[in-house]
Amino acid sequence: MAVEVLKKPRTFYDSYQRKPGTDKITTHYCPGCGHGNLHKLIAEALDEMGLSDRTIFISPVGCSVFAYYYFDVGNVQVAHGRAPAAATGIKRAHPDKIVITYQGDGDLAAIGWNNVFHAANRGEHITVFFVNNAIYGMTGSQMAPTSLVGQKTMTSPRGRDPRNEGYPIKVCEILSVLESPAYIERVSLADTKSINQTRKAVRKALQCQVDGKGFSLVEVLSPCPTGWRMEPRDAKRWVADVLTQNFKLGVFKDVTSERAPYFFKDPDGAPPFDEIKRILGWEEKEKESPLPKVFPSPENRNPQFKIAGFGGQGILVLGLVLAEAGMRQGYQVSWLPSYGPEMRGGTANCHVILSDSKVGSPLVSRPTVLIAQNRPSLEKFESDVVPGGLILYESSLIDRPPQRSDVRVLPVPAAKLADDLGDTRVSNMVALGALIEYTCVVSKEAVLQAIPISVPRKDFYELNRKALETGMEYARSLKK
Ligand code: SF4
Repeated sequence: MAVEVLKKPRTFYDSYQRKPGTDKITTHYCPGCGHGNLHKLIAEALDEMGLSDRTIFISPVGCSVFAYYYFDVGNVQVAHGRAPAAATGIKRAHPDKIVITYQGDGDLAAIGWNNVFHAANRGEHITVFFVNNAIYGMTGSQMAPTSLVGQKTMTSPRGRDPRNEGYPIKVCEILSVLESPAYIERVSLADTKSINQTRKAVRKALQCQVDGKGFSLVEVLSPCPTGWRMEPRDAKRWVADVLTQNFKLGVFKDVTSERAPYFFKDPDGAPPFDEIKRILGWEEKEKESPLPKVFPSPENRNPQFKIAGFGGQGILVLGLVLAEAGMRQGYQVSWLPSYGPEMRGGTANCHVILSDSKVGSPLVSRPTVLIAQNRPSLEKFESDVVPGGLILYESSLIDRPPQRSDVRVLPVPAAKLADDLGDTRVSNMVALGALIEYTCVVSKEAVLQAIPISVPRKDFYELNRKALETGMEYARSLKK
């Protein structure tokens, strides 16, 4: 009788088409790496528990960043350490789904520690598979929060010294003292017996989520032969002989049998959407009669703006007023801010889209209009403007006009004109005035309605109005 002992779980793709290159059959992991073992255990469990079609798998940053090449489930790849935060949102929006985060020690125990800690403390109904190999594998074997005392790494060449680097973080021990988590276990991939125990733990953690019992986490001590500079066989032995001596195996918490099931509803406890609109005053806004439509010339329709300058020049507010005015004019709009950590003096830019149809992405990489309020911004973004586009630049601060000959150029000495009004801070509204006069993308009335909503300083309204009109007047003077 033929018995099939080895088979690929159905939860893996037949071939890994998302993987670049010609090899679509093997994984990207190093020989002897534990990730492959754990992937298989998870995929088998999803198969056997009938969960594949309900599962959303969140890949981290780390060696397993490409887990979505392999798992034929819903896949999301998130920023470093943010998997539990993303999982929280996804699970609450889709309480019927099985949401898994898969994270390494750098991702979970360093940059993402607060994320997993608070997700555990909130008792999010998610399952976390935490791969602990005591090193940063992907980036070249630096010390991880879980590196052992005395362990030599690229960044601790004399061995981890607790007087300098502290002690290894014991994730299971810490999280298991919290009230909320339902199931926490540490297992290993050292040998066949350990792998069988890991298989059970994976199922148990998933069952915990299926049964509505709350947060579950399985920490898996896993070999990283490349990061440890070992042969695969020696790496497995090191897991058994060294790693498990420092990270005690076992169940740290299991309240799954005594805890009553709880399932988030969708949306759990939140007021109906109409009620939210009433609370936020959106209903009143919707009732307001829309302003008459504007009809900019063809080259100015559906504009995509990049607005850039120094922090403190009112760049983000300029974009916000423009977007708000666009909304009042019946456009679909988006506003995406981007700025450095500095409150003043750093760079700031924002992306604004005014569109006749729905906005697919708020990111503007090829602006039709660049508003550059300082020279670094002009130099940085000038080449991005589409041919035929417009560059409005701050001519009282920028001593080098745009070099492009295939775009329209509008020099506006906004800071000087604002100074003449008595306050440089309204130079953003001068620039906006020149823009709307030159392009007709929104009306003056729409901007005047948008200013009190978008500008926190109410006492600035009159000055902003004057600045807007000054900018319009300036642009009109250029037409003459
Ligand atoms: S570096 Fe280590 S963890 Fe990363 S793929 Fe290679 S063996 Fe696996």
